[in-house]
Amino acid sequence: MAKKAKQPKEDDSMEAKEREMEEEFEQVQEEQEEEKVEKVDVKDESLASLPGVGAATVEKLEQAGYTDFLSIAVASSADLAEKIGMTAAASRKIIAAARSKLNMGFESGEVLLEKRKNVKRISVPSEAVNGLLAGGFETGAITEVFGQYGSSKTQIAHQLCVSCQPDGGSAVYIDTENTFRPERIVQMATALGLEPNEALRKIKVARAFNSDHQMLLAEKVEDLVKDKDANVKVVIVDSLTAHFRAEFVGRGTLADRQQKLNRHMHVLAKIASNYNVCVLVTNQVMSKPDQFFGDPTEAIGGHVVGHNSTFRIYLRRGKKGSRVAKLIDSPNLPDAEAAFMITEDGVKDL
Ligand code: ADP
Ligand code: MG
Repeated sequence: MAKKAKQPKEDDSMEAKEREMEEEFEQVQEEQEEEKVEKVDVKDESLASLPGVGAATVEKLEQAGYTDFLSIAVASSADLAEKIGMTAAASRKIIAAARSKLNMGFESGEVLLEKRKNVKRISVPSEAVNGLLAGGFETGAITEVFGQYGSSKTQIAHQLCVSCQPDGGSAVYIDTENTFRPERIVQMATALGLEPNEALRKIKVARAFNSDHQMLLAEKVEDLVKDKDANVKVVIVDSLTAHFRAEFVGRGTLADRQQKLNRHMHVLAKIASNYNVCVLVTNQVMSKPDQFFGDPTEAIGGHVVGHNSTFRIYLRRGKKGSRVAKLIDSPNLPDAEAAFMITEDGVKDL
């Protein structure tokens, strides 16, 4: 006591500091408790379903590039707090909720192999092309078909809409360039012995007028795919990148474009994997006139499109009107090429 009386100031400040620390400690504990009890609706997939996230915060998150749960789940709480202008505690809460929504658990290889058994392959009337893909175009995955104008991207898209039908499947087609042709469907369906009008009825086509409309349509596709009777097995986006490329001109807008494309690809990836659907997107190439060595062409959208696609097929014109498909960077198949033709009946072997 005597000591205390001698140094009242120091002791007082020590106590005050201690009290402060204790309070802070309690506060953190409370927050952690709250974090624990916070019930997260794991099915709701909008950012607004995260705790304490309203419309204004969603906007801030998206502007800062946090457009999905994954980007939030892997963020550092200090970073997120700073960019969004929220407390560290609030950002920790959001990160925890995003993680619980992601189902970041592990699955055994056995379970995965079992899941892989549900994967179907949609074969086309060319053994060469089927061979390239170990049987055909896979469901549960995104396949990107890219190549120059006239390389037959749209023809392959049409072919898949017809080729999924003998097994009872149907198709959805998002057409951005106004190149869907029912007449071609009639020809390809007839060649496969399908009733042409029936085949046309099993293809739902929507014209996308700009990139926002295209993204909205992709979200709507989920409603169609959910319908078990419809048995949608193929979803086409032809062309994936044309609107994006036309609308986002100039270097300054590249980041915005890539961000939107990324979001679009995620919607498509979810459709592919949740509903075991074959998603086929077509993509153009841009020529790189300044490049004298290596491949003078490059797919639009770069890594955003490439990394989100399971299969990438590069198409080019071959000799005597033939076409060549080259499989690139497949997770389980060798890089290889297949030559084929486009005929009135559709995709054919040479
Ligand atoms: P992309 O979408 O890559 O720009 P397309 O898929 O539209 O190219 O391919 C167009 C090409 O397909 C045409 O140049 C033509 O060679 C071929 N093609 C289109 N229709 C027919 C048909 N009925 N018979 C034979 N070939 C066709
Ligand atoms: Mg086309």
